[in-house]
Amino acid sequence: MKINKICIYCASSAKVDNTYFDETEKLAKELVKSKIEIVFGGGATGLMGKLADTVIENGGKIKGIMPKFMADVEWAHKKVTDFEFTDTMHERKSRFLENIDGLVALPGGSGTLEELLEAITLKRLGQFTKPIIILNTNGFYNPLKEMLEKCVSENFMSERHLQMWTFVDKVEDVIPNLENAEEWNKGAIKFATNK
Ligand code: AMP
Repeated sequence: MKINKICIYCASSAKVDNTYFDETEKLAKELVKSKIEIVFGGGATGLMGKLADTVIENGGKIKGIMPKFMADVEWAHKKVTDFEFTDTMHERKSRFLENIDGLVALPGGSGTLEELLEAITLKRLGQFTKPIIILNTNGFYNPLKEMLEKCVSENFMSERHLQMWTFVDKVEDVIPNLENAEEWNKGAIKFATNK
């Protein structure tokens, strides 16, 4: 499928290893090159800051979606011109998922994990049907991969649910996996519960 616009979840922390910044920069450049627009949390720090800086420097399109209370404490990236401010975190998360062709999670903390797991849960219920790609830089997400697979092996979810996400080790695998992901079933609600 042709990918025009994606949402990216990623860290706000500025203290993470340089590898994470380098990989974020590399992905941002590839997305701009492929003319893929980006929606993100609008933050100025950490991997969010690196993502937005790189996209803007390279002439790409990026939009921030942030609750007003974060903008009030000046968390909004100053160079991002396309911004939407929401009343709540919940509203922000639902706006992230509208009109996108896919979702990419880079390494992050509780915010990233929360957003990612909500998207996976909505996909399981057939409320979100787009590809979810998890960039496993440095094996950062191995424990999550193991946890999700344990959910399946212990029958908290079914084998079919393994198709909801794709872990990739390398930046260059992100776009091809977005493009080639199997279409997800809108009727997923029918097999959401392992009965
Ligand atoms: P974390 O991974 O805990 O650093 O949280 C990052 C994710 O949560 C991002 O994808 C944002 O949507 C949201 N978030 C957390 N902190 C910030 C921040 N300082 N500015 C903007 N968004 C943030």
